[in-house]
Amino acid sequence: MTTRSKLTGREIHSFNSLMMSLEDIINNAKFKRTMYRLTGTCTGGVCVGWNAQNVLWNVTHEMDREYGTTYQERLKQWILSAQEKGLVVAGALTDTKGDRSLKPSQQPDQDSNVHIKEVREDGIVIRGAKAMIAGVAASNEIFILPGAGYGEADRDFAVACVVPRDIQGLTVVEARRPSDGRELEDGFDMVETGTTQAYLIFEDVFVPNERVFMCREYKYTGKIIEYFTANYRACIGACVAGQGDVMIGAAALMARANGLPAKTFSGKIVDMAINNETTYGVGIGAMALGRQHPAGAWVSDSLMAHTNKVHVATLPYETKRLCQDIGGGIAETGCLPSYQDFTSPEYGYLVQKCIKAGRNASAETRARAARLVEWLTLGAGVPGCMHGGGSPDGAKLVVRARTPLEEYVEYARTIAGIPETVLEPEKK
Ligand SMILES: Cc1cc2nc3c(=O)[nH]c(=O)nc-3n(C[C@H](O)[C@H](O)[C@H](O)COP(=O)(O)OP(=O)(O)OC[C@H]3O[C@@H](n4cnc5c(N)ncnc54)[C@H](O)[C@@H]3O)c2cc1C
Repeated sequence: MTTRSKLTGREIHSFNSLMMSLEDIINNAKFKRTMYRLTGTCTGGVCVGWNAQNVLWNVTHEMDREYGTTYQERLKQWILSAQEKGLVVAGALTDTKGDRSLKPSQQPDQDSNVHIKEVREDGIVIRGAKAMIAGVAASNEIFILPGAGYGEADRDFAVACVVPRDIQGLTVVEARRPSDGRELEDGFDMVETGTTQAYLIFEDVFVPNERVFMCREYKYTGKIIEYFTANYRACIGACVAGQGDVMIGAAALMARANGLPAKTFSGKIVDMAINNETTYGVGIGAMALGRQHPAGAWVSDSLMAHTNKVHVATLPYETKRLCQDIGGGIAETGCLPSYQDFTSPEYGYLVQKCIKAGRNASAETRARAARLVEWLTLGAGVPGCMHGGGSPDGAKLVVRARTPLEEYVEYARTIAGIPETVLEPEKK
C-alpha cells in the first residue's frame, strides 16, 4: 500500500505515485485485488484519480512539447502536494452526456458535459455535470478529465483539472437508495461495506491556473482516452478477480452452512477460479506488453486491455451465477427474512429454527453468508463489471481497429497455397 516517490524518494501512499515501470503497474493490480478481498467491492476513491495523474503526466509532456505550455510542471507541483498530504483523489471522466447520438456542442443543454465557460488570466470557470464518479464520498479531491476524444467544435469540453471536493459551486449528489426507515446497522441486512457513485454538478466553478492541466487542447483528448483506458482496463481485471475470490469464499461458506462440504462443488469452484484468473491474467498480460512513455509513466497494451474489458463485462456474471447456484435459494433476492424478523422476541426463535441447517454453522452464520451472496451477486456488490471503465461495445471497437485483418488473411492465403488475392466483394 506504500511505495517510494519517484519525485522525492520519500515513502508515500501507492495511490499518489507515478507508475513508471512494469512492476509499478502490476502493483496497482495487486493493490486492487487486495482491496476487493478486504471490502468485497470497488475502492473508487483510490483508483480513477491515481490513473488520471499518470495519464496526464504523459499527455502534459506531449502538449508542452507541441504548444510550449508548462502543464507538466503544474501537475508535478500538485502531485508533490498530493504525496505530501496523502490525498485520496476520485477521478471524473464520465459526463452525464445527454443525447448519446449528439456531440457535446450539439446538445440542447450544454451542461450535459463539463466544459470551459470562461478563461481568465488567473484560471478557468467550468460548468456542467459528471455522473457515476466512484468513491467521491471518501475523497479529498477530484481529478477531472474529458469524457471522450473531441474535435475542434468541442474544444470547450477539452478540460483537465483537479478540484477540492468542497470547492465553491460544486454540488455532490451521492447515488444511494433511500433506506426503508428501519434500523439496519446492527443486523445482517446490509453488508457494512460498498461503494457509492456520485453525480457532480459544477455551476460556474473557478479553478486557478495551477490546477489546470488542459485548456481547449482538443487534439490531445483522444490521447487521454487512449492511455487512460489502456491502463484502467488492464487493472480492472484484478478488481473483478478480487471480488470473485470473495464469491468463492462466500460460496464455500454457504455450502458448509447448508451442511455440505465445499468439495461437493469443486467443479463449479474451479470454474469460478478460472474466471478470476482469466481477467487478472489478461490484465497482467496487457501491462507486460505495454511500454514506458517517453515522459516516464507506463502505458499498457491497448488491444490486450480492451480484450480484457470484454472479459470483465462477461466472466464475473458467470461467477455470480455459480455462486448463487451453490448457495441455494436462501441466497437469492427476497428469500431470507429480515434481521428484524430473525430477532423478533415473539417469533424470532421459530425463524432461526427454519434457517439453521449445517451442524458446523449457526442460523445467524447461514443468514449472514446468504446476505453476502445476495449482495455480491445482485446488489451493490456488482462493481461496474459491465460499464465501469467504459462499455464493452466501445472496447470491441478498439479490438476491431487493432486487429490487422488483411495481415491475417495473408497468413491464411499463404498457408492454404492460394495464389490469387481475394478481395472483399464490391458493394452492390
Ligand atoms: C460502478 C461504476 C463505477 C463507475 N465509476 C466511474 C468513475 O469513478 N469515474 C468515471 O468517470 N466514470 C465512472 N463510471 C462511469 C462509466 O465510465 C460509464 O458508465 C461508462 O463509460 C458507460 O457510459 P454510460 O453509463 O453513460 O453508458 P452509455 O454511454 O449510455 O452506454 C449504454 C449503451 O449504449 C451504447 N452506446 C452509447 N453511445 C452510443 C452511440 N453513440 N452509438 C452506439 N452505441 C452507443 C454503449 O456501448 C452501451 O452499450 C462508473 C460506472 C459504474 C457502473
